[in-house]
Amino acid sequence: MKQVIIATKNKGKAKDFEAIFNPYGFEVLTLHDVADDMDVEETGTTFEENAILKAEALAERLQTFVIADDSGLAIDVLNGAPGVYSARYAGEEKSDEANMEKVLTELADVKDNERTARFCCAIALAGPNMETKTAFGMCEGVIAREKKGTNGFGYDPIFYVTKLGKMMAELSPAEKAAISHRGNAIKQIEAELPKMLK
Ligand code: IMP
Repeated sequence: MKQVIIATKNKGKAKDFEAIFNPYGFEVLTLHDVADDMDVEETGTTFEENAILKAEALAERLQTFVIADDSGLAIDVLNGAPGVYSARYAGEEKSDEANMEKVLTELADVKDNERTARFCCAIALAGPNMETKTAFGMCEGVIAREKKGTNGFGYDPIFYVTKLGKMMAELSPAEKAAISHRGNAIKQIEAELPKMLK
């Protein structure tokens, strides 16, 4: 089977990428498979900068073509927070539960029609002797008042996907791949993939 390397250790992201890439006939490898000791500091201030940092560091080390994503949740009433700090919003231990509790508490007094938000994802494709390419995807929704659903990861149990009338954490991996910020970003660069992934 052909392989695609994703510069992440996040198991939730890895599962999302499997649902996206398996239909193309690609097996997904992550940092756990190819560079377990690697930890790239996310010093950028935008999703795109961080995705490029991660992709280029791994491509340089492996001398092969790789993909990285940097993603997060942007809540309108919080002026786009948690944004690039989504993973560590409630602290450096990066707890999904604590992050969701923090958001629910901050939005406790916010009216239903002001709870709009979106997931954002920047993808970077990097490799030897090529200019790094980027793509961006979003998924619109509303922050719920309580958690619901057990699929997915991160903020999925509190994110209501307006288009489908369901929580993100209620979607199957294939349903999420079809509408997610990550799936939408990959669709932008679909045409590039066969050239780069062998
Ligand atoms: P990154 O590793 O800096 O890109 O962290 C992304 C963080 O954003 C994750 O740890 C989650 O908290 C959040 N996030 C990104 N994508 C998703 C998603 O698809 N569902 C739920 N949370 C997400």
